[in-house]
Amino acid sequence: MKTTVQTLQGSRIGHFIDGAFVAPRAGVYAPSYDPTTAEPWYEFAQGDAGDVDAAVRSAKAALLDPAWRRMTQTDRGKLVRRLGELVLAHAEDLAQLECRDNGKLIKEMRAQMRAIPDSYGYFAGMADKLQGDTIPVNKLDTLNFNLREPIGVVGMIIPWNSPLMMLTGTLAPCLAIGNTVVVKPSEHATASALALAELVIEAGIPAGVVNVVTGDGATTGDALTRHPGIAKYVFTGSTDTGRKIAGNAAGNLVPCQMELGGKSPHVVFSDVDIERAVNGVVSGIFAAAGQTCVAGSRCFVEAPVYERFVEALVERTRRVKVGHPLAEDTDIGPLALAAQLEKVEHFVGSGVREGARVAVGGRKPQDEALARGWYYEPTVLAEARNEMSFMRHEIFGPVVGVMPFSSEDEMIALANDTEYGLASGIWTRDIDRAMRFARNVEAGTVWINTYRSAAFMSANGGTKKSGYGRRGGFEVMREFSRLKNVVIDYSGAMQDPFVIRLR
Ligand code: NDP
Repeated sequence: MKTTVQTLQGSRIGHFIDGAFVAPRAGVYAPSYDPTTAEPWYEFAQGDAGDVDAAVRSAKAALLDPAWRRMTQTDRGKLVRRLGELVLAHAEDLAQLECRDNGKLIKEMRAQMRAIPDSYGYFAGMADKLQGDTIPVNKLDTLNFNLREPIGVVGMIIPWNSPLMMLTGTLAPCLAIGNTVVVKPSEHATASALALAELVIEAGIPAGVVNVVTGDGATTGDALTRHPGIAKYVFTGSTDTGRKIAGNAAGNLVPCQMELGGKSPHVVFSDVDIERAVNGVVSGIFAAAGQTCVAGSRCFVEAPVYERFVEALVERTRRVKVGHPLAEDTDIGPLALAAQLEKVEHFVGSGVREGARVAVGGRKPQDEALARGWYYEPTVLAEARNEMSFMRHEIFGPVVGVMPFSSEDEMIALANDTEYGLASGIWTRDIDRAMRFARNVEAGTVWINTYRSAAFMSANGGTKKSGYGRRGGFEVMREFSRLKNVVIDYSGAMQDPFVIRLR
């Protein structure tokens, strides 16, 4: 793998098409910024419709090539497993690349790189377990069965917050099934997808099966989502962009899998150990500087313990260390881009104007060493109300609003009073209450006495404006394969073509 922080620094990198790096046709490059200094550190290719077309053609050719098409499922599974092993072998370089690109903590990126190979292994194992069915039809001497086959070239648009982790969740099953792909990473974190494309070739996966075309969403992403050669889109990102992509895809009658934003409710009842719940809420919102789709950004606390909970939350939040993402003792690093920082500042400001109280945070850190980067202090806004604009919009930053509730019915109404429905969490010792919450909350995931406990073995995704389609578990194998119905008449009889045969 040649793409590392050292080789990229101060250099230029092209698209990865048909097994090799290629320069953009128009010769245009764009800078990638280091979020800790706000300075550019390498340049990536700015793809246009011609580059996208070359990538889709390459993926289409690979799809039809017997080297991939006629490979047995077991052999394909071995290659997918090998790719995971190579990620593990290059885990440190990949972690450093992502950390430098998106400012996330090195310790989190290292943990992700150690988890990703297991995910490849899991889906590699499924490659030869994807079965069709035999259908007992109402006809004699007839065999009717379903085949499961690849759907074709899959277009994948991934966000900057955990690029390889997000990519793996759909790339691994897509490859295990026999699809080919064109990936468009975010312009804010491009490098790791390109490095992975190199490993794909090293793993022995044929050239053209995985292509990466880089550039911004409005140009490169838009061209990809209008291309008639794509069979399905996977999109992870904001709800507004999801809407645009679904619109483009509809023009070609192509389905999508949408993993969109969230404004997830995190509920605390008075029967719990407050310290444990505080830790859960802190990890639910401040991990990754709040830049996670499942962030528990609306915290509802049962009225009798509200004051005590806010006090404990503030005390714990003061101990969250903001610092350089490469430092081992850092708890939260910078936001990934300047626009994110502006968005956080905007929503904290609007929250205060609408009557919320900054209980802790609410500003950039005062430390001189962090002054140039896009850092923001972890922030608790108390006396929040669900109708305040920061409680309605996804901020994607380290800001939680906390408000009291008096009854279970009121809490469920508040939790569901949002256009989103991605994740949810509840802290209570009452199992009946927890199960009522699980039944009634409108969210794709429910965490009980835990939060952010995700697993690639279980299907997850959103409801309402948080998207549709599922990743994880066997469910994702169905999402990226297609059923074909085959009917065989083995009666040997010569049928009169104009007699309708009922049996
Ligand atoms: P965006 O929607 O802006 O971007 C996501 C991806 O879409 C990027 O690759 C981006 O490219 C691309 N894109 C942007 N505009 C277009 C377009 N018109 N056509 C095609 N592609 C486009 O999201 P953010 O970058 O702001 O990412 C954060 C969002 O992602 C949050 O809302 C978060 O909730 C969501 N998210 C959801 C997850 C989930 O699993 N549900 C997981 C992680 C994040 P570029 O960046 O180059 O412009």
